[in-house]
Amino acid sequence: MTGRREARRASGAKMTIAVYPGSFDPVTYGHLDIVERSRKIFDRVIVAVLVNRSKQPLFSIDERVALLKEATEPWPNVEVDAFSGLLVDYMKRRGAKTIIKGLRAVTDFEYEMQMALINKNLDPTIETFFMMTSKEYSFLSSSIVKEVARYGGKVDDLVPPIVASALQRKFASLGPSADDR
Ligand code: ADP
Repeated sequence: MTGRREARRASGAKMTIAVYPGSFDPVTYGHLDIVERSRKIFDRVIVAVLVNRSKQPLFSIDERVALLKEATEPWPNVEVDAFSGLLVDYMKRRGAKTIIKGLRAVTDFEYEMQMALINKNLDPTIETFFMMTSKEYSFLSSSIVKEVARYGGKVDDLVPPIVASALQRKFASLGPSADDR
């Protein structure tokens, strides 16, 4: 914990808890970059894997959570959890007031603005915090990673080693039926 955070805590200020929601199917260096940067801004960051959003995920919720836990293991103020239902309800349960979202390109903007406004409508006390992607990850998405890994391409600079091996095992076990995921 940084000295600044300790001082804030000692002064009785409330702990800032932010939730970073997504499918994380699977986690990439783009996601981890957002977690790394936001954990320096908030006291606690909860990476929350959304259950049921993606109709046909490649990895199960448990697998996605396990990969995220391993990838964020060095960071003490980061927690990984799964949730279903409305994000604002989950946040209320966890005492969180900020949603973290990563923005890659203008194509992300319209949908994210709609989500931010809907969430504000559902709970006006909640703020959405947008963080711009780092330029080296602006092209990176879980779908791109899956696309490359499915055909045996190298993903070592896109995901942590544990994710790269999990992808390899997954596509080997699924065989040709992996085509539509
Ligand atoms: P995706 O499958 O497109 O990676 P997720 O639902 O897993 O999407 O993404 C969760 C959050 O992470 C979203 O806010 C998304 O915009 C953000 N994100 C994903 N990839 C990146 C990246 N490369 N840089 C910045 N933000 C990202």
